[in-house]
Amino acid sequence: MTRLSTLPDEPVTVTPMRTFPVIRDLVTDVSFNYVKAQEVPSFAPPPNLRPGEYRMAQADVGRSQEFRKCIECWLCQDVCHVIRDHEDKKPAYAGPRFFIRHAELDMHPLDTLDRRDQLREQHGLGLCNITKCCTEVCPENIKITDNAIIPMKERVADKRYDPLGLVMPGWRNRSRKEKRSSRPGS
Ligand code: SF4
Ligand code: SF4
Repeated sequence: MTRLSTLPDEPVTVTPMRTFPVIRDLVTDVSFNYVKAQEVPSFAPPPNLRPGEYRMAQADVGRSQEFRKCIECWLCQDVCHVIRDHEDKKPAYAGPRFFIRHAELDMHPLDTLDRRDQLREQHGLGLCNITKCCTEVCPENIKITDNAIIPMKERVADKRYDPLGLVMPGWRNRSRKEKRSSRPGS
């Protein structure tokens, strides 16, 4: 975010976002983002969990709060080179705003879904080369790459290349769910 008072005393040029089609003046068609938003499955807590039964660690609360600061300004989507320069990749790529949405849900201690296959196959996490352009423009100062993309890349690699997972398919996923179901209140 740039305060007007910090700008030099000279003309300022304002342009529409470059990645999305211009509708008129500064207005762009950002419907791509809403299509991707609909593809991310909602939060899925255990069905038997009742309000007030679960206590979350402060670290888990803090992580969710950081990701939920997103105001969906789409600046991170605008600067991401995969969306901007590779039209052919867009059907299988969601972009940084939705990488933090996946991260928020996948790292949530109550979420029961395994979101890693969708993130890799349908939302193209592997196409991100961690340039950090998205993090640099985020007006909410969300650490998109360090706190969401890199941990999710590690989680995806963990599932795909973990030797135990290869010899015992489903072991890692069972272990995640068993860990959750053993937590207090779950
Ligand atoms: S770090 Fe990844 S998601 Fe962010 S702008 Fe770069 S390629 Fe896109
Ligand atoms: S730049 Fe930040 S606030 Fe804007 S959509 Fe991306 S994550 Fe959300």
